[in-house]
Amino acid sequence: MTTSSPDVPGATTQGFDPPRRQLIGGALAALAVVLTWRRARAQQKMSKQEAEYQDSPKDIRMCATCTLFELPRSCKVVEGDVSPNGWCKAYAMAD
Ligand code: SF4
Repeated sequence: MTTSSPDVPGATTQGFDPPRRQLIGGALAALAVVLTWRRARAQQKMSKQEAEYQDSPKDIRMCATCTLFELPRSCKVVEGDVSPNGWCKAYAMAD
């Protein structure tokens, strides 16, 4: 005979119900996969085409004055080689 434990939700005097434990384990594994996928996706950079990147400045705006530019020739959000004189639609001016 199995009776409920008053102290631990889901626990019985016989221990945790194996199917419930498997269900919780599966849910946690699925959550870990989703979080890993979201983190990987968040770290992906845009292609130059997606960012509408160009190798020349736009007005006075250029990669060299963008907060997302990384010396010597890269960007935090756009993939590939980025010219300090370039520009894209993700341009972010420093405050
Ligand atoms: S203007 Fe665009 S490509 Fe250039 S550094 Fe900023 S975000 Fe990157």
